[in-house]
Amino acid sequence: MAVQTELTNNPSTVDLGPAAALSCRECGERFELGPLFACASCFGPLEVAYDLPSGSPDELRKRIEAGPDNIWRYAPLLPVPSDVADKPNLNPGFTKLVKADNLARELGVTGGLFVKDDSGNPTHSFKDRVVAIAVEAARAFGFTTLSCSSTGNLAGAVGAAAARAGLRSCVFIPHDLEQGKVVMAAVYGGELVGIEGNYDDVNRFCSELIGDPLGEGWGFVNVNLRPYYGEGSKTLAYEICEQLGWRLPDQLVIPIASGSQLTKIDKGLQELIKLGLVEDRPYKIFGAQAEGCSPVSAAFKAGHDVVRPQKPNTIAKSLAIGNPADGPYVLDIARRTGGAVEDVDDEQIVDAIKLLARTEGIFAETAGGVTVGVTKKLIEAGLLDPTLTTVVLNTGDGLKTLDAVAATSQATATIRPSLDAFRAAGLATS
Ligand SMILES: *Cc1c(COP(=O)(O)O)cnc(C)c1O
Repeated sequence: MAVQTELTNNPSTVDLGPAAALSCRECGERFELGPLFACASCFGPLEVAYDLPSGSPDELRKRIEAGPDNIWRYAPLLPVPSDVADKPNLNPGFTKLVKADNLARELGVTGGLFVKDDSGNPTHSFKDRVVAIAVEAARAFGFTTLSCSSTGNLAGAVGAAAARAGLRSCVFIPHDLEQGKVVMAAVYGGELVGIEGNYDDVNRFCSELIGDPLGEGWGFVNVNLRPYYGEGSKTLAYEICEQLGWRLPDQLVIPIASGSQLTKIDKGLQELIKLGLVEDRPYKIFGAQAEGCSPVSAAFKAGHDVVRPQKPNTIAKSLAIGNPADGPYVLDIARRTGGAVEDVDDEQIVDAIKLLARTEGIFAETAGGVTVGVTKKLIEAGLLDPTLTTVVLNTGDGLKTLDAVAATSQATATIRPSLDAFRAAGLATS
């Protein structure tokens, strides 16, 4: 038996579309679809294995293009039932891929620079993608309460998705998050619990709750539903390639919290190649962290295969996971693809938020400051090739982390409502 919480529905009736089984990332052992997350033999993480569609790439491309303008256009490649688009859910995805020519000029990128702007999702972060998939798993397994341990954005995404799906929600966050994240997590009417501790404490608490009768019937999107949840990040890979005209980018810069998103974007790119939907050419994946929580970057630079946990201290709270579950896999991917993992300090994060805002009119949360700042640093270090097509992820909305830039983003002048006063302020140049 794998590590498992009570299953309400019979596994044979579970319909998650092309998802065929769970398989262990370490030893390959397979398990029936269920709310499992660790291999019974080796405790490795489980991931979804598929019967991917057969048939011609052209047909599949056409079928996807005819689908809805959200992640469900990729339903044939996701662990969701085929009628998923008809169910009550938030329909995230198909966010803008912005050609960032002004930023490119500023950074000296000549090969094409794009920002994949996931602030456009229903709760203004990329987390709506992963939660939407976890909700389908929760429905399939008969869970009635949706839960998570969160650095902020996930709590809001779970609260909103549960409200739409008609499920109860109870989510857990570190008690000292930004006001924007706390309000977003509470406003949808579910239960919100602040834990006195950091994210790693919250996560440990949730793991205990799952093993206790108190947590019975609860689907924790990023714990016992984690294999399904993770698959939502593949849609970023699918969208980026489709939006580039069914082409792989040469380089991607992706933020790292637990590392799940980065590893699943790589999985998505590999699937597109396998299915013949894009031409098989090399791409490089770069990971981005905040210096104040940079366990993966530190391991990359030291040439280590294991990630030493850190105690986070950074304004990039959405990325503040000191003990990232997928850290070792991120290291593998960065090294295998010829990429790197880099970090920037809080001041560089703020500068990068303002750089993106001033050049492209995109207001990113601190995580977006991390990816843009790391992109700049990698170009300066000669690690990222400015002559190649590069996609930088902005995974959240600056309105949720106002404090990061509030002190340096104020009115230029405050004046009486008179032309004389305006003239005196010296702003009347053309
Ligand atoms: C959760 C989150 C990420 C990435 O998280 P992973 O755990 O690495 O998948 C990136 N950006 C933002 C804004 C997030 O909230």
